[in-house]
Amino acid sequence: MPWRRIGLLLILLSGGLMFSSTGLSDHGPGHSGACFGPTSTEEAPLDDWTVVIDPGHGGADPGAVNEGATEAEHVLTISNLLREELRGSGARVCQTRTEDEYLSLADRAAFANRNDGDILVSIHLNSFLDPDVNYTMTMWGSGRAERRLAEAVLRPLETHLPETPEGEETTINASRVAQFTSELLREAEMPAIIVEGTFLSNRWEVEALEDGQWRHRQIASAVREGIVAYSQRPPLVVRATLPAFEVVGFGLRGLDYWLRESGTESARMVSSGMYLLSGWEPLNLFGVEV
Ligand SMILES: [Zn+2]
Repeated sequence: MPWRRIGLLLILLSGGLMFSSTGLSDHGPGHSGACFGPTSTEEAPLDDWTVVIDPGHGGADPGAVNEGATEAEHVLTISNLLREELRGSGARVCQTRTEDEYLSLADRAAFANRNDGDILVSIHLNSFLDPDVNYTMTMWGSGRAERRLAEAVLRPLETHLPETPEGEETTINASRVAQFTSELLREAEMPAIIVEGTFLSNRWEVEALEDGQWRHRQIASAVREGIVAYSQRPPLVVRATLPAFEVVGFGLRGLDYWLRESGTESARMVSSGMYLLSGWEPLNLFGVEV
């Protein structure tokens, strides 16, 4: 029944497109979001990538506060430094806010969607009642690509943040990657993560963050390094055990793709190589990787 299958494909595709255009129509109240072209002059690792940076909180929402220092202000500084580093690495960078401005999570996701981000990285600083706690963390929502991005960005954070650039010890002594439910991660149509760089509530950390921009730069450099590592992941590989299938298209979020059986009209939609829409059998049995 090839035609019935094609009909189902079209329904799935048009559902995806309608979802996309809902995002386009929501411009939200923010006005300071902007995109910036690359500044690299030679071939660079992030050529052709659009990275959306989302400095958390802002405006009426300061986020964590410690001794007058606000998360909103410090994550904007980190984000501005990260933006320039990524542009130098070849990326087009879109930033949800460039000023101290309030944006809802839906505004932030809509901004990322309408600017066609390849990935979204939301920058935060953590907070806890105990002022001795300090570790670095990344969070992902769903899907294999998103988890891989969270792990790729965590690695340089855990390597670089336990020491100052001069080699002195900081109070960072652990790292975590966690799955997290958030409207921002759920509504973004691309791999999206939250970075909780360090704890603003930590007594050593707040002093470091209030002492110029060296700590901000350290966090930004680590995040850039993680994004570059993620971007260099091997391209989609369909192993030799599956010669009869070819990839015929990609779906939303870059996690879904269509496979077609050679010589037939039959195609399947696969999500992250693990989940399958519309009742076909799981394709990870065939060794498909993203
Ligand atoms: Zn936050």
